[in-house]
Amino acid sequence: MNIKSATYVISSPSVEQCPSPEKREYAFIGRSNVGKSSLINMICNNTKLAKTSASPGKTQMINHFLIESIDEPTHKVHDWYLVDLPGYGYAKVALGKRKQWIKMIENYIRKRENLVNLFVLIDSRHTPQEIDISFINQLGEWKIPFAIVFTKADKSTQKEVAASVKAFLYALGADWAELPPYFVSSAVKYRGRKEILSFIDEANKSVEFK
Ligand code: GDP
Repeated sequence: MNIKSATYVISSPSVEQCPSPEKREYAFIGRSNVGKSSLINMICNNTKLAKTSASPGKTQMINHFLIESIDEPTHKVHDWYLVDLPGYGYAKVALGKRKQWIKMIENYIRKRENLVNLFVLIDSRHTPQEIDISFINQLGEWKIPFAIVFTKADKSTQKEVAASVKAFLYALGADWAELPPYFVSSAVKYRGRKEILSFIDEANKSVEFK
């Protein structure tokens, strides 16, 4: 699959204000600084795209991008939404704001009927963090389809990345009978792009959608 165009649509303060749910939607979430903007830009082949949403006042919003992709080899065009969700785990953010964030994200994740998959980003250099594990376990309780993206793989050796992925999946394994799909990415090396796009492409073709 190739990206034909990627356009910023709108930033919404709540799920109720998001664009009407008539297209399949794929959202990205993770702790701040995990590499979410870089990953989105890499996926869309546009170095400035996610910066639009990082402008002041928009970082705490649900940011929609409209993507047109071309299927190979059929050349069929699919259009879908890519959503940049505000990052979690800001230590400095006041409790009130954090609670507001949790409510907004929970509402979005649970109510957005066209959400096909949530990509949860994890920094591949870190040991399993409680905040990520509990967020993922919460997704399980809510029965939200998700995949994990281990970011910044170029910053460590392959062996270290593999060990880190294994440790994270092992930490998850305590609560999961079946492990989720996962990807290893590097925005610097353009790693993981093809795999993530294929995953989206498959879902665009196969996930039932009215
Ligand atoms: P966000 O806060 O999650 O949107 O993270 P950003 O995409 O802004 O990335 C945070 C920092 O990590 C920036 O300095 C990026 O240049 C860097 N970064 C992001 N992805 C990668 C990557 O794949 N490899 C390397 N080496 N650095 C990355």
